[in-house]
Amino acid sequence: MCYNNSGFGGEVLFRLPGNGKGTQLMRRKITAVLLSLLLCLSLAGCADRQESGEWKKRQASFLNLFDTVTIVVGYAPDEEAFEQEVQVIHDLLQEYHELYDIYNDYPDLNNIKTINDNAGIAPVEVDRRILDLLLFARQAYEISGGMVNVAMGSVLEIWHQYREAGIEDPENAQLPPQQALQEAAKHTDIEQMVIDEQAGTVYLADPQMRLDVGAIAKGYAVQQVTAELLEQGISRYLISVGGNVSAIGPKGEAGEPWAVGIQSPYDPDSYDYTVQIASGCVVTSGNYQRSYTVDGQSYHHIIDPETLYPAAHFDSVSVICGDSGLADALSTALYVMPYEEGKALVESLEDVQALWIVDEETTLFSSGFEQLLR
Ligand code: ADP
Ligand code: MG
Repeated sequence: MCYNNSGFGGEVLFRLPGNGKGTQLMRRKITAVLLSLLLCLSLAGCADRQESGEWKKRQASFLNLFDTVTIVVGYAPDEEAFEQEVQVIHDLLQEYHELYDIYNDYPDLNNIKTINDNAGIAPVEVDRRILDLLLFARQAYEISGGMVNVAMGSVLEIWHQYREAGIEDPENAQLPPQQALQEAAKHTDIEQMVIDEQAGTVYLADPQMRLDVGAIAKGYAVQQVTAELLEQGISRYLISVGGNVSAIGPKGEAGEPWAVGIQSPYDPDSYDYTVQIASGCVVTSGNYQRSYTVDGQSYHHIIDPETLYPAAHFDSVSVICGDSGLADALSTALYVMPYEEGKALVESLEDVQALWIVDEETTLFSSGFEQLLR
């Protein structure tokens, strides 16, 4: 774990493994993301500067979780207490990171990658937390009318390969062949994900199907970790895992809300809106988060299951609600859906608000969103 608890405005300390070109790109990207997130949270926290007694505001960041930047901001009486609690937060998140990883194996652990590796071969016995994530994934599929489909891994894998190659070698960046996408799309039937709760197993009945839980896993993990921390009596923290921001209790003892900045899609160093939350979360999906350029056109990472191409309605969508898993699923769903459909979905749900940044001139809000703006 690498963390910085020097407070806002302090030097940001972090370490990245490797020296290759890809790593340098990754380093630049992560630096930009980290700086913008820090700015976002610190600007949003301008009014939070006052210290309540000994309880000073502190912060830490990690780069080893969920292929993104995690930032923890919190109040603790002293550095030691802060470090201990940050360690608990980190370790809990790391467990979920390993369980929900689709790219890496871990010793003595069956994770989502193990399920993928066994597609068409055998059911895989998994931890309860994987069963619960995949049961939630089914709900996300239902709620979103199929727009969020974790069984789309075969299609997403192709985009992932072309995006990584295009970032590595921008001069030769290419789009995936349409035929390859269409062929892969034949293996995205979520019904082929067989969950046996009794046996504790998951089986992909279609040998060419792959799971990609990127649209829901961070938010779902953050939700579970939030609940576990509160149960352990750890509170007064705001955590952001790659833009999945969740309040672990309110900011102050008297229930004061946190101020959370929503990053501008057009400038990583500024934020467009600030919302106040005493509990719950703010989750954003945007076209600026992971993208590459082909012939001057940018292609990002949220794929419309109908066109098999990046969704093009908005530059970002943010969702605020009490459950970070639901917020993550919804932010991806709303990003893919046309506004009218997405708005109707949001208005049909209780305690869910959303903000759609259409372009530099136009932002749309759900009916209760403006009350949350600071
Ligand atoms: P981020 O992960 O950048 O915070 P999202 O929560 O919107 O953003 O999730 C995007 C990720 O979800 C992609 O990187 C990909 O792994 C996966 N994904 C993209 N499109 C879809 C989709 N339509 N359904 C399910 N998963 C998707
Ligand atoms: Mg999401």
